[in-house]
Amino acid sequence: MNAPFPTSETAAERKPLNLLIAAPRGFCAGVDRAIEIVEKALERYGAPVYVRHEIVHNKYVVEGLKAKGAIFVEELDEVPDDAPVVFSAHGVPKKVPAEAQRRKLLYVDATCPLVSKVHRQAERQIEKGRHIIFIGHEGHPEVIGTMGQVEPGQMTLVETIEDVDKLPFESDEPLAYLTQTTLSVDDTREVIEALEWRYPNIRGPKAEDICYATSNRQAAVKDLAPDCDLVLVIGAPNSSNSLRLVEVSERLGTPAKLIQRAGEIDPAWLEGVETLGLTAGASAPEVLVREVVDAIGKLRNVEERTITAAEEKMVFKLPRQLTE
Ligand code: SF4
Repeated sequence: MNAPFPTSETAAERKPLNLLIAAPRGFCAGVDRAIEIVEKALERYGAPVYVRHEIVHNKYVVEGLKAKGAIFVEELDEVPDDAPVVFSAHGVPKKVPAEAQRRKLLYVDATCPLVSKVHRQAERQIEKGRHIIFIGHEGHPEVIGTMGQVEPGQMTLVETIEDVDKLPFESDEPLAYLTQTTLSVDDTREVIEALEWRYPNIRGPKAEDICYATSNRQAAVKDLAPDCDLVLVIGAPNSSNSLRLVEVSERLGTPAKLIQRAGEIDPAWLEGVETLGLTAGASAPEVLVREVVDAIGKLRNVEERTITAAEEKMVFKLPRQLTE
């Protein structure tokens, strides 16, 4: 019997799909280090090791560490006195290590060194008598951690230009600004310009606080999105840098979808798509990128190409207590 003539639907399915994969994508040096800290703590102290907050915002990573003996909690009062505890990559308010010391807990701080750098900048600005305007997203753990480096009332959070307009300070008050590390490069520039216009003497960091990994991943999406019909971003809904990647694509006129795993891809999304972009937030492992590529390969014939915006060689040292 002759093979059936392909319907228009199967022909469409066989049409090659250009898949543009962003580089850099996925894990950054701070996330690599935080995960290694939990793994090394498990090796050194044995299970269970408690972790305050999701070590990085990725379910796959968290489940993998749980399987090795990590227990995730939100607050220190959930940690027994005799168990080691790791603080997440996002950083913690000062009162958290202070409480751990008071209880004589064995703790390891996995705060990304680039977040710690912002914490030190906050301390220095307060020492110089300046009030800090912090640009960030309310409720994000990094923002809670950074605002918790200073006394209540010494730092004011703004998210938008409208928030800058509402600030109660006079134009000659001593002010400084700092930013969350995982913001939109473009939005933050606008907020800083609004601050500098309203407060000409405001001080800022020498180099912006948005980290290299956030900037590079946004630059890579800017490179590929204009050539794509759709961009998929692998990341968690509570991952700030992943949400920013969706926004970057959408602002360039290319629809984007945030997915956590390949199983969330709706085949209907690919209808009429000739070129698909793919990237991953800083807390999403490469194995999830390959899972998505394989899943798309089952729906369409894929021609894969990497679009490289920058090379990354950043590596952060582990805390000495885990290496000596
Ligand atoms: Fe550090 Fe940037 Fe990675 Fe956050 S996204 S952990 S600040 S390198």
